[in-house]
Formats: sequence, C-alpha cells, structure tokens
Amino acid sequence: MTHKNILIVGAGFSGATAARCLVEKFPHIRVTVLDKRSHTAGNCHTSRDPVTGVMLHVYGPHVFHTDRQDVWNFVNRFAVFRPFILRTKTTTRGEAFGLPINLHTINQFFRKNFTPQEARDFIATKADKSIIEAQNFEEQALKFIGPELYYAFFRGYTMKQWGCDPKMLPASILKRLPLRFDYNDNYFNDPYQGIPEQGYTAMVENLLDDSRICVKLNTEYVRDMSAAYDMTIYTGEIDRFFAYDEGRLRYRTVFWKTEKAIASQTECKTSTITTSPDLKVYDLQGTAVMNFPDPDVPFTRKIEHKHFAPWETHAGSVLYTEFSKETEADDTPYYPKRLSSDLLLLTKYQKRASELPNIHFLGRLATYRYMDMHQVIGEALDFVHVQ
Ligand SMILES: Cc1cc2nc3c(=O)[nH]c(=O)nc-3n(C[C@H](O)[C@H](O)[C@H](O)COP(=O)(O)OP(=O)(O)OC[C@H]3O[C@@H](n4cnc5c(N)ncnc54)[C@H](O)[C@@H]3O)c2cc1C
Repeated sequence: MTHKNILIVGAGFSGATAARCLVEKFPHIRVTVLDKRSHTAGNCHTSRDPVTGVMLHVYGPHVFHTDRQDVWNFVNRFAVFRPFILRTKTTTRGEAFGLPINLHTINQFFRKNFTPQEARDFIATKADKSIIEAQNFEEQALKFIGPELYYAFFRGYTMKQWGCDPKMLPASILKRLPLRFDYNDNYFNDPYQGIPEQGYTAMVENLLDDSRICVKLNTEYVRDMSAAYDMTIYTGEIDRFFAYDEGRLRYRTVFWKTEKAIASQTECKTSTITTSPDLKVYDLQGTAVMNFPDPDVPFTRKIEHKHFAPWETHAGSVLYTEFSKETEADDTPYYPKRLSSDLLLLTKYQKRASELPNIHFLGRLATYRYMDMHQVIGEALDFVHVQ
C-alpha cells in the first residue's frame, strides 16, 4: 500500500477493526478515526450505570457469536470473553415460553409430551402445504410452523418491530430463525459465543489503542475532510454521505422506557425482591430478554441488563422496555427495512459510491444491511486482507 494517511469515519466495530488491521499490516501508515458521538463502539457501546453499577448495553443488547475461527481469535486479542448463551423467553397470552421455538416450546404450547420425531411429524401436519415457494414472511411462517405458532409468537412481534404487515416483508427474515426439535434453547447456533467481561466499549478502546491511530470523537464527517487523506473508509449511512439527494433509505429505530431498581429503596413498583442473607437483590424479570409478541401490548420486549453479565453481582437493576418506530431525521437508524423501493435507491447510491476514487464503504450503515458484530468484523478483516 502506497497510502500514508487514512481517514476512517465511524468508531464502531467496522471502523475500529479496519483501523487496527491497517496499521498492523502497513506499519508506515497513520489512521485518523472520527466519530460524531462522544464514545467509541458505535451501537455496541456499553457503559456502567452510575447508580446501580450495572453494565448497560446502551443501544440495545449485544451478544457476540461467530463460526469464524479467525474472527474469534481476533476479538479475543482485545477482551476477555466470558461464556454467555442467550436464552430468550417470550410471553404470549399470559404465559412464558422459550425461544427459539424448540421441543420444550412445542410441548408446552400444545400441551403435549412429544419426542423429537413426534414433534417433527406434528408440526408437519400444521404446515400449509399449498405454499410451494414462500413469497413473503407470512407465507414462510405458515409453510414452516403453521398458523398457531405463527400467530402466537411471530405475527404481532413482527408487526410491532417492522411497523408493517408481515406479508410485505421478505421470507428471508424468518429463514434466519431456527426451529428445533430438541430441548436446545440456545438462541444462536454458532460455536463461539460470549460477552466481553468489561463490555464492548472497553474492547473497542483496546482495538484503537495504538500510537499510529488517532481518534477524534464528537466530530461529524463532511466530504471536504477527505481531501487531506489518501484514502477514506466510510462506515456511516450511505444515503447521508450523498446528502440524501436521491432520497432516504428507510430504517426502523427503537427507543426505551427505563426502570431502575435501586438497592435499599423500594419505590420501584414493578420489582420483585429476592432476599439474600444480608442484602435485598432486585431481579425484575429473571432473564436477559423477554419478548412480548401480543399485538395489544405496545412494546416488543424487555431487557434486564444485569443478566448479560452473570459474573457480576449488583443489588440494583436496570430494565429497558423496548418500543419500535419508523426512523425520523434525528433518530438513530437501527434496522434497514430493505423494501423493494429501498433496494432500488440503494442501487443508485452504490453506483455513485463505486465511481468515487479512494473512498470505501464498509459496515452495516454504509452497505445498508442488517449485520451482526462478527459479520462487520469479518468483512473489515477481509477488506484489509485484500489491500
Ligand atoms: C438493537 C440491536 C441489537 C443487536 N444485537 C446484536 C447482537 O446481539 N449480536 C451481534 O453480533 N450484533 C448485534 N447487533 C448488530 C450490531 O449492532 C452491529 O453489527 C454493529 O453495531 C455494526 O458496527 P458498525 O461499525 O458497522 O456500525 P455502528 O456500530 O453503527 O458504527 C458506525 C459509527 O459511525 C458513526 N458515524 C456515522 N456517520 C458519521 C458521520 N457522518 N460522521 C462521524 N461519525 C459517523 C456513528 O456515530 C457510529 O458510531 C444488534 C443491532 C441492534 C440494532
């Protein structure tokens, strides 16, 4: 690489991984990483709640998982990972079940005691065989699990999360969710899963901790800045890069109502209190993630942050109730909607992006895809590998 000065826009996992790998591969280069936020780690940012001491997943809960050995080796250089298996629960019609749908869920929901093969045969009788090639989310669900499980677990949740009829969403969203005929309730299938002991922000700070990397926070990128650098890696929204002049790509965003239970105080009405020998310990829902798929419940899920760090002990607790809505100008973009009109717009931006010399678009916002952490890290590793 002949370049000497590189600008990276965004200090999330995409930008931080690219920065670190570039200076390690090309010791002569200098990298400036800027972010408009006051912290690194992008949407994976974690910070301790000053009152309870609980580690908060500020922009929503994050569990690291991957099947790529190189990605797992890479992330373990910058953090001590504690084993963590996500076992999501879901409350529907007043009863709690395990997700993803597994043999326990099926037996509990249908009041049966099936063996794996019996459950497989039973679910096959529920599936809508008239659907040969599912054209949308709803058809995929009806073909896959039948109407009872679909209406109880997915229809309402999907309508709330995406703000539209599941018939308008691609079948591929449901294809990602596992259906299991054993008692395995691990949300992910990957062999490597965990959460960094000190949170994601400490990990990203370690990634960026190199004398050849300069980090500037609270700094919004403008196109003119690139003139001072040999190459720019942009990890922000692709439509924003072009000042939205072809139109805006649509995202869903989420927001939270926060409840805090503070040790030695009792005003938190929703809390249940378990008493350890000498201390009141608040446990507000007994699990990390509880979904609420019923359509008459306005929120999608509740997140109790302390359960993402079971190796820590905190008497207090912080609970987020998550709501979903359409993204407006000042909202954080979370989930790319990727409806056909969005994809048409994306093609226009991508064509213009490909014509720009020395500017590369990396990560979930710049490529307008839903991507997990291991995927953006993997793509940043691959990007540097081919330089
Ligand atoms: C609610 C939720 C839960 C998730 N849970 C998981 C999970 O459990 N496991 C998992 O693996 N993944 C999860 N993800 C996905 C994960 O958040 C992403 O993979 C990851 O954040 C992508 O990193 P990134 O660097 O590409 O983007 P971001 O993290 O979004 O970072 C981009 C950064 O660029 C900055 N930026 C943008 N534009 C500009 C500009 N013009 N000037 C300056 N700075 C700019 C932003 O401020 C931001 O800090 C979840 C995502 C969401 C929304």
